[in-house]
Amino acid sequence: MAHDAQLTCPLCGEVHRPVSLRPGERASCTRCGTVLAKGRRLGPEAPLVFCVTGLILAVPACLLPFITAGKLGDVRVSTLFTGVGALFDHGMRAVAMLVMLCGAFLPIALLGALALLKAPERIRAQVASAGILSRTAEAFEHWAIPEVQVLAVLVALTKLGSVIEVTIGAGFWCYCAMALSLLLAQRSFDYESLASRPGGANAAPRP
Ligand SMILES: [Zn+2]
Repeated sequence: MAHDAQLTCPLCGEVHRPVSLRPGERASCTRCGTVLAKGRRLGPEAPLVFCVTGLILAVPACLLPFITAGKLGDVRVSTLFTGVGALFDHGMRAVAMLVMLCGAFLPIALLGALALLKAPERIRAQVASAGILSRTAEAFEHWAIPEVQVLAVLVALTKLGSVIEVTIGAGFWCYCAMALSLLLAQRSFDYESLASRPGGANAAPRP
C-alpha cells in the first residue's frame, strides 16, 4: 500500500498520517509524545518576505555611514567595513576576516540562500537544488551572527560616548533591521519540510 506523505517520529519511529494544523497548534507523537510539527502563525510566504526585506536593507547597511565620531571639528565617518579595514591594517587579519564573514558576508549569503529556497521552483532550479541550498543555509546559520556586530557597536557607543561626540548613522539602523529580518526569516523557516517531509511544513501527524 502506497503512502505518499507519511511522517515518522524521529525518536520512536512511529508512523503517522499528515494533517493540516491551525496556527499555534502542535502535533505530538502518539506513542512517545515528541512534538513533531507546529502550526505556523505566519503565512507560508513569510520567510521569503523577511529574506527579501533583509536583502534590500543590506544595500544601505553596507553603503551608508554606521557611526560618525568626532571632536573639535575632526569628524570620522565609519561604515560597516571600516572596522574590518582597521583590524586588517593593524595586523589582525584573522579577526578581520572573521568579522567580515560572520557580520557581513554570511548573513547576506544566508538571506540569499533562504530566499532561493522559498523562491518559485523555476527560479530556484536555475541556481541549485533545494537539497544543496538547504544544507548550505544550515551551515551558514552557525556563523551568520549579525547581532554580535550590533552588540559591538552599542558597546563602543557607550564607551566612546563620554569621550567624543558620537552619532549613529542610517547604515547602522538598516543593519539592525537587516539582522531582525534574518532572525524572523530563520524563525519562520521550516527546513524539514524542504529536506525530508513530502507532506510540507503544515503537515502534521495523526494517529
Ligand atoms: Zn514517538
